[in-house]
Amino acid sequence: MTTLDRVGALSVNGFDASSTVGLSTRTLDLVERRRRVLGPAYHLMYESPLELVRGEGAYVYDADGTRYLDMYNNVASVGHCHPRVVDAVTRQMSRINTHTRYLHEAVIGYAEDLVGTFPENLSTAMFTCTGSEANDLALRIARHATGRQGIIVTESAYHGGTVDVAACSPSMGPASVRDAEWVRTVPAPDAYRVDGDPGTWFAEKVQAQIDDLVCSGVGFAALMVDSIFASDGILPEPTPFLKPAADVVHAAGGLLIADEVQPGFGRLGASMWGFERHGLLPDIVTMGKPMGNGMPIAGLVMQSSLAESFGRDLRYFNTFGGNPVTVAAAQAVLDVIRDEELVANSASMGSRMLTGLRGLAPGIDSIGDIRGAGLFVGVEFIGPVGEPDPAEALRVVNAMKERGVLISATGLYGNTLKIRPPLTIESGDVDLFLDMFAAVVA
Ligand code: PMP
Repeated sequence: MTTLDRVGALSVNGFDASSTVGLSTRTLDLVERRRRVLGPAYHLMYESPLELVRGEGAYVYDADGTRYLDMYNNVASVGHCHPRVVDAVTRQMSRINTHTRYLHEAVIGYAEDLVGTFPENLSTAMFTCTGSEANDLALRIARHATGRQGIIVTESAYHGGTVDVAACSPSMGPASVRDAEWVRTVPAPDAYRVDGDPGTWFAEKVQAQIDDLVCSGVGFAALMVDSIFASDGILPEPTPFLKPAADVVHAAGGLLIADEVQPGFGRLGASMWGFERHGLLPDIVTMGKPMGNGMPIAGLVMQSSLAESFGRDLRYFNTFGGNPVTVAAAQAVLDVIRDEELVANSASMGSRMLTGLRGLAPGIDSIGDIRGAGLFVGVEFIGPVGEPDPAEALRVVNAMKERGVLISATGLYGNTLKIRPPLTIESGDVDLFLDMFAAVVA
């Protein structure tokens, strides 16, 4: 691969099955059985795949008992096996777990609590099991509301795996998007590589694709965007760079779908939701991953007028989405975020990490940029003339793993480290990460 090849974000840091030197007999056996029965579409992470059997707080343990600091897994956002989540799920599972066509006070109470974390206009919630389903439903609602089909996403976006949402996920590979004449892509507003103001620049790109959708007769329904641009390389600054694009979308009569699957639930430190950093109001917000700390719950919060008109014409049923057990997990997560002041912890630990990384960077030519918001941090590696250096990012990812710290890489070129620890992380953990990082990049 040349350094300028674009990589699918989901294959960054993928295990290469043709290189199995040094793997234990047990790992080899599991890799082969997995490949045989699950097929090749599933990827594993790291040069030497991990078999994780236990987790506690910010740490996970493999089958040999080796401990790793988990700086990557943003699903277990309040920490692996948080006792309040475990207890809430266990109690509800031993009482009742039904589908969602019965009344259940806790489900309604959670929805009320959740919409209470949003600006007033965003006041109706719907629940699904996965972020993909949430985005899929968001597309249906946006198309129903506008009567048009066209969707704009960024060129290395990942929004999920249903047929329509996979077509909105160019990072899964070109075949994912190829036949969808209703999808348009725009380059991400990368402040490190774009000359001038990334907000105006991005809004112009969005406007051009809106015009193209209109001209081609497809029409423009929505811009779907992850407000931290996780798979585009983590783009946190300079806020409010998303606002001009939101204005362009609304002026064209389209909807803004904020995919908060990655930045939501306090991850960015400044606020509960990533879009709030940009001073804008989305029409639909989707969420998932950290929502149930590992239980499969995801969903949407939207302007109630959208839910009303969709519900007048269409029914929605999801057997498992928002059932009492997953909602018990989600309620515990929300309670823990508030009681343990995790949004503030995300801000302070994130800033400790950024300060530490920036202190190390001056002596290291391969580091081009360090950026982050709260506990979502990216470190971009470059070659001698500033070109993306994915090989160095991959080397650092695997070397960190050998030292007991889990991270990964992301972005259009796969040259940016993706660092996303649990929001409960403490200063000692951040310092351990920084020590290991210093040793690896030295
Ligand atoms: N949107 C974003 C931004 C994501 O990162 C993901 C998952 N990586 C999804 C949607 C899809 O979520 P799920 O895997 O729960 O379907």
